[in-house]
Amino acid sequence: MIIKFIKKIWHDPVISKVIAIGIVAIIGYFGGIFTWIISIITILYYLINKSISISFWLLFLLVTFPIFSIAKFIKKIIINGDASKNNYKEYCQDVLLGIKWRWKYSSTDNKIYGLMAFCPFCDYQVYPHYTSSYQIIDNIGFKCDYCGKVLESYDFSYEMLEDRIIRMIQKYLRTGEWEKRIDHVMNND
Ligand SMILES: [Zn+2]
Repeated sequence: MIIKFIKKIWHDPVISKVIAIGIVAIIGYFGGIFTWIISIITILYYLINKSISISFWLLFLLVTFPIFSIAKFIKKIIINGDASKNNYKEYCQDVLLGIKWRWKYSSTDNKIYGLMAFCPFCDYQVYPHYTSSYQIIDNIGFKCDYCGKVLESYDFSYEMLEDRIIRMIQKYLRTGEWEKRIDHVMNND
């Protein structure tokens, strides 16, 4: 009896099409952008093939439900875009040229500023000192006053060192290497 009824519906040109559209509408609601495209194609097909007139509410469902999927999809893109745009600001510390550096980003032009040096072993803030007895020669070095470790020394000035560090950070930001380095720094903290 039921099978007979289904068969009758299945072969009915109007009802079978209505069911088909209904199924597509439901898929369109739960699916993403691709099912939405399928929904649109189905709508166009049935509008061109005017052998039946689909009811207004069915057309309404077919168009509006997939719009939620589209809205969700667009929202996701916008949120992800924003996140990746600002994520790099999480990269604000790294061990570079043997010293641990921390810095900030200017909120107006995203410039790197406030560079500070820390001991890579105990995280105590360190300051440069001249390593040459001739103060005219710009040799600087770092020694940790807390753990006593003798850290790196350089044969150039602190200004030059800061400039190099900033250029290294800028390079990592440009090339996307910062993402790998941020994991590395986090795991070593
Ligand atoms: Zn230290």
